[in-house]
Amino acid sequence: MYNPKSLRAVDFIDHQEILDTLDYAAKNKTNKELIRQILDKAKQLKGLNHREASVLLACEIPALNEEIFHLAEQIKKDFYGNRIVLFAPLYLSNYCVNGCVYCPYHLKNKHMPRIKLTQKQIREEVIALQDMGHKRLAIETGEDPVHNPIEYILDSIKTIYSIKHKNGAIRRVNVNIAATTVENYRKLKDAGIGTYILFQETYNRKSYEKLHPTGPKHDYTWHAEAMDRAMLGGIDDVGLGVLFGLESYRYEFAALLMHAEHLEATFGVGPHTISFPRIKKADDIDPSAFDNGIDDDIFSKIIACVRISTPYTGMIVSTRESQACRERIIRYGISQISGASRTSVGGYTQTQRPHDSEQFDVSDQRTLDEVVCWLLKMGYIPSFCTACYRAGRTGDRFMALCKSRQILNCCHPNALMTLKEFLLDYGSFETREVGERVIQEQLQQIENEAVKNATVCYLSKIDAGQRDFHF
Ligand code: SAM
Repeated sequence: MYNPKSLRAVDFIDHQEILDTLDYAAKNKTNKELIRQILDKAKQLKGLNHREASVLLACEIPALNEEIFHLAEQIKKDFYGNRIVLFAPLYLSNYCVNGCVYCPYHLKNKHMPRIKLTQKQIREEVIALQDMGHKRLAIETGEDPVHNPIEYILDSIKTIYSIKHKNGAIRRVNVNIAATTVENYRKLKDAGIGTYILFQETYNRKSYEKLHPTGPKHDYTWHAEAMDRAMLGGIDDVGLGVLFGLESYRYEFAALLMHAEHLEATFGVGPHTISFPRIKKADDIDPSAFDNGIDDDIFSKIIACVRISTPYTGMIVSTRESQACRERIIRYGISQISGASRTSVGGYTQTQRPHDSEQFDVSDQRTLDEVVCWLLKMGYIPSFCTACYRAGRTGDRFMALCKSRQILNCCHPNALMTLKEFLLDYGSFETREVGERVIQEQLQQIENEAVKNATVCYLSKIDAGQRDFHF
C-alpha cells in the first residue's frame, strides 16, 4: 500500500501508485481546467505532488506546455537566480563486483584495465583539478568491498581536503558510492562530506533486477532505502537521480518525485539535489540497445516539470550532455553542472583524454575556463561557492535559506566572490574581462546595503591576494 511515511521502499515507491498516477496523467493530458489549476498551484511556489506533476508532464496542449516552460524558468530565477555552481567528478577506482548491464565497469568486462588510485595519485589528480580552478568534487567508485572499502573512501576524502596547492583548495567533497550501512554513512558524515549522491538507476523493481543481474546492487530494496539510512547516519544532504533510458521516463518521473516526497515526509527535508543522467556510449555499452532513450524535447520537459514540482532542490546535469543540450536545459531549472570532466580513473593527470578506463563518453569536452566564459556570456554567474555546507547550512537549514529568499543576500555575493577568485587565479584574459564586467553589474543586485558594502570590501581584499571569504 502506498505510504510516503513508511520506511519500506515497497510502500513509498509503490508500483500500483505509479501505474495509477500514469493512468490519471494520461486521462487528463488534455484536461485544460485541471492543468490550469495545477499551474496555478505551482505558481504559489510550494511545489507539486507526483500526480499533479505527472499531469503536467503528460500535457498535450501546446499553449499550456509553453506556460510550463515559462514557469520553470521563472521559478529557477526566483530561487536560484542566475548562478550555476560548477563541480567535477573524480574517479578513484573502477574495481566493481556488480553486473550493471549499462555500465562498462561491470565485473564481466575483462578487457577494461582496473585502476585504483593510491593516495599519492589522488593528490596529483586533485592538484590538476585545483589548477583548473575547481573547488567542489564528486568522488566516484565502483562497488567492491575488497578494493574500495569505506576506509579507502575515508582516507581519500582526508587526502583531498588536506591539499592546498597555490591558491587551490577543494572545499566540498560530494560522494557517489554504492549503497551502504548507517554506520558507514555516519563515517562519511564525520569525514565532512557534502552531498551523498546515489542514483536509483530505475525505480521499476522488475527492470532494476534485470539490469542489475549480479552483485550486491541487485538488491532493489537495499538500494532504494539507502537514502533513509544516509539520513539516519546524519547526512541530511542527499542527491537522487535515475539513469534515463533504462525504463519508461514517465514511470521514473513519478517515482523520483515519490522518493522526494518520502524523504520530506519522513525526515522533514527533501533531496538536496536531483541529477539527470542519460545513458551514454561506453567501452562495451551501446545506448541503442536500451529501448527507452529520450530525446532533447522530452528531456527538457522533464527538467521543467521537476523544477516546478521541487522548487528548492538543486538540479544537476553533467558533461554527458553536449554544449547545445546544456545551453537549452540550464534555463529550465539546472543549478549545477560539471565542467572539464574526465570519467576515467587517473584521467586528470594525463595530457590526452584517456579512454581505456572511462565510465562513459563525455560530450562536452571543453576546458573549465571555456565553460566559465560560456556561462558568463549567456548571462549566468559561474559559482564555486561552498559556503552553506561549511557554515552548517545543510538539510532543512539550507531549505530555510532558500524558502526565505535570502539567496540574493547570501548565495549571490558568495558566487561573485568565488568567481573573482577563479578569474584571478585561473581565468584566461577573455574570461577575466567578461567576468569582471559581470561582477560589477551583479553587485547592484545585492539588496541589503550592508551585505553589498561588505562584498565590495571582500572583493578588494581578494584582489589584494586574500582568499575564501563567504557569508
Ligand atoms: N557505483 C556507484 C553505485 O553503485 O551507485 C555509483 C557510481 S557510478 C561511478 C555513477 C553513475 O554513473 C551510476 O550511478 C550510473 O547511473 C552512471 N552510469 C553508469 N553507466 C553509464 C553509462 N553508460 N552512461 C551514462 N551514465 C552511466
